[in-house]
Amino acid sequence: MAKSGLLDKYREAREEMVQLLLDRGISDERVLNAMAQVERHLFIPIPLRNHAYDDAALPIGEGQTISQPFTVAFMTESLHARELDKVLEIGTGSGYQTAVLAAMGIRVFTIERIPSLLDSARRVLDSMNVRYISKSSDGTIGWKEFAPFDGIVVTAGSPGIPKSLVEQLKVGGRLVVPVGTQDFQQMKIITKTGEGNNYSIEEKSDFKFVPLIGRDGWPERNG
Ligand code: SAM
Repeated sequence: MAKSGLLDKYREAREEMVQLLLDRGISDERVLNAMAQVERHLFIPIPLRNHAYDDAALPIGEGQTISQPFTVAFMTESLHARELDKVLEIGTGSGYQTAVLAAMGIRVFTIERIPSLLDSARRVLDSMNVRYISKSSDGTIGWKEFAPFDGIVVTAGSPGIPKSLVEQLKVGGRLVVPVGTQDFQQMKIITKTGEGNNYSIEEKSDFKFVPLIGRDGWPERNG
């Protein structure tokens, strides 16, 4: 969490980022408060830290990115998750969204496909005393051991709605997933309406994510 006073030289930049999120329509105070607290610069490679609070995705290595702050805020708000809810994140990446969810008092389970990225994310999260449970694996098949979840957030672009993830939601739970081609995806909010694979879909605006690679995602050779 954020340091107080002069020690936190990025505080002003973070406050400006949060103001921009408000201006762009993010209204959930819990999300805004969490993003005002979590030090995004710590999740970013040192040479890029001056851009940490720009509303931009940035490279984190292995051809992957930390999502744009607006995207993180939009997806987190769309989950409608409450304190102590169980949320599964697919695509830990830098660990930033994990920290934002945890700062909201959510119990976070996170899966990252690339072991070296998960190692770096764990180092940062652990140094900040963030509580979460993680593993390196193909997140498109979910995490049965901890299911059902109140919410699932997929932070990579999927060719379709991953069936196992819908199955692992509680009835009434929400899955937030960008679905489309490898170039552009439309954000979809799936609300589970009954046991099994029954759900309703809300369609939101377009985004651009790195591909979700795995059994119910894109094949590895296209990644
Ligand atoms: N939430 C991340 C953050 O806050 O930095 C954003 C991560 S980045 C946009 C998407 C991540 O999804 C990448 O790190 C990528 O390796 C990962 N990914 C892609 N396919 C995956 C899969 N099947 N299971 C788990 N992670 C996957």
